[in-house]
Amino acid sequence: MKNLFLLFVLPLSILGQNKGFNMDYFNKLNEQERSIIVDKGTEAPFSGEYNNFFEKGYYICRACETPLFKSSSKFNSNCGWPSFDDEIENAIIKTPDNSYNMQRIEICCANCNGHLGHVFYGEKYTDKNTRHCVNSLSLRFIPDNE
Ligand SMILES: [Zn+2]
Repeated sequence: MKNLFLLFVLPLSILGQNKGFNMDYFNKLNEQERSIIVDKGTEAPFSGEYNNFFEKGYYICRACETPLFKSSSKFNSNCGWPSFDDEIENAIIKTPDNSYNMQRIEICCANCNGHLGHVFYGEKYTDKNTRHCVNSLSLRFIPDNE
């Protein structure tokens, strides 16, 4: 019975995670937010409200409000976008992205599939050697004392 579970239930649950967009989460977004989160755009470097922002708290998905990153993992990479060297467990889906003739890994919110940015490894910015490069427009900051 256990093998049957793995054969049938597990693949279904994986498919379920990639069901695409539930538009309920995206209806309230403005045009600028939608161009990033739904159309997988990228905001201009150094333009985002969280690029140079290091308050204590955490960051939720702007579309569905799932917690994605803690401020303790945010670091200053000078790359022009908010950078995190870790994610909140199971909050993010990673998918190979070969658009623009680049081999990158796209990161999306695991709950609503909204586009966040890309993740890069091996750049040696921090001990975790990981940089989640995230659009400010995909996030909303929640201070710790709230
Ligand atoms: Zn989301």
